[in-house]
Formats: sequence, C-alpha cells, structure tokens
Amino acid sequence: MLRVVFFGPPGAGKGTQAKLLERKFGACQVSTGEILRKAARAESPLGKQTSSYLARGDLVPDDVMVKLVAERLKEPDCGSGFILDGFPRTIAQADDLEHMLKQNGQPLASALCLNAPDDVLIKRLSGRRTCKKCGGLFHVVFNPSAKPGVCDRCGGELYQREDDHEEQIAARLRVYEEQTAPLKEYYRGRGLLREIDGVGSVDEVRERVSRALGDGAK
Ligand code: AMP
Repeated sequence: MLRVVFFGPPGAGKGTQAKLLERKFGACQVSTGEILRKAARAESPLGKQTSSYLARGDLVPDDVMVKLVAERLKEPDCGSGFILDGFPRTIAQADDLEHMLKQNGQPLASALCLNAPDDVLIKRLSGRRTCKKCGGLFHVVFNPSAKPGVCDRCGGELYQREDDHEEQIAARLRVYEEQTAPLKEYYRGRGLLREIDGVGSVDEVRERVSRALGDGAK
C-alpha cells in the first residue's frame, strides 16, 4: 500500500506527479493547497481563516494544517493508501504527522523530495493554469489545454492562481527554503528521503518517481 509524502519547492511538479500516482495505485492524493483553495472559493470558515495566507504565499499555521490533515486521513478513501501533496511543510507538521501515523499503525513508505532550480520553477509557475473544478494542471506553453481556458479532463474553468504571480512566487520560494527545505535532513535521518530530479518532461520525472519508490510502492 502506498503511503508517501511529496515535498519540494513550488512548481517542482508535486501535484502533477501525485495525480499520476493516485491513478496508478488507487491511493488518494491529499493536496492541502487544493483543499484550502476550495475552502476559500466556498467561503467556508476554514477558507475565511486561511485565504489571506494563501494570497501572500505564506504558510497557514501548523495547528490548522495538522487538524485538517488528521481529519482528511480518517476518511475511508485514504484507507487504500495516500499521497500527501504539500504536507508536511514544517518540521512541526512532520513531527505531528509521524505521531499521527504511528498511532494509526500506518508508517510512511517514503518521503519524496522533488527538486528543480529557481529559473525552471519560475517559468513553470508563471505560466501555470489550474482547473477550478478538479485541480487539473496545465501550462500555457509546456502543456496547454486543447481549448484555451477549459480543462481537458472535466471541462472546468482554468485560471491563474493568485499565488502564481511574480511577487507571490518569490515569497513562496523564500518560504520553501526557510521552512520546508529542512525536511530533507529530517527525513534523511529517518532513512525515508528519496530526492528526485524534477527537471524534464512529465514522463521523465514519472519514471524517476517510480524508480525512487521501488519496493515502497508494493
Ligand atoms: P500548494 O498548492 O501546495 O502550492 O499550496 C498553496 C498554499 O497553501 C501555500 O502557499 C500555503 O499558503 C498553503 N498551504 C498548503 N499546504 C500547506 C501546509 N502544509 N502548511 C502550511 N500552509 C500550506
């Protein structure tokens, strides 16, 4: 059963690769960013509480995120494995996750870190288009949808995320280096870290992800 976390700088390809793994293994993709964006659009209490963090490219406080993930992992579809996409993002979140999974008897198979240099990340993020309905990911140059502004998968509306603009991209890259990159040492120390080169085509990166998962995917 697949139980993994995906981390890496924004634009490294976590969402794209997590969606591919979800289809391949029948494990559920838990994208914390997507959950928060949906909450913001629905103007739910969670959305109202967190939308300003998203707009700035800042991290939402740990206690809010840990509670959200703990509840999501209890849902039945996560019983067949999960791919955490964008969580944890701080050492405190990683500690809480470890504790949570220990209690449930569901240890992580691996922590996948997708890497790419800043110039690649900036190009990917600034041209990215996201489906409002299913979270599908496109790019105006590298992976355009068949019909501009319309999702190939579900027909939903494509939009440019508020945090995929220049100023917010720079803030998110900084936040990643300061708060999330230390997870590499954290997971290396536990023997779980798999670093993956995220530069190249979606298929090339998918091959590397498969290789990195190795036995952990069985
Ligand atoms: P993402 O879609 O993964 O790029 O996440 C978009 C935004 O959601 C981030 O810039 C944060 O504001 C927020 N977010 C998502 N996951 C987390 C997390 N694990 N901890 C804190 N904030 C998060």
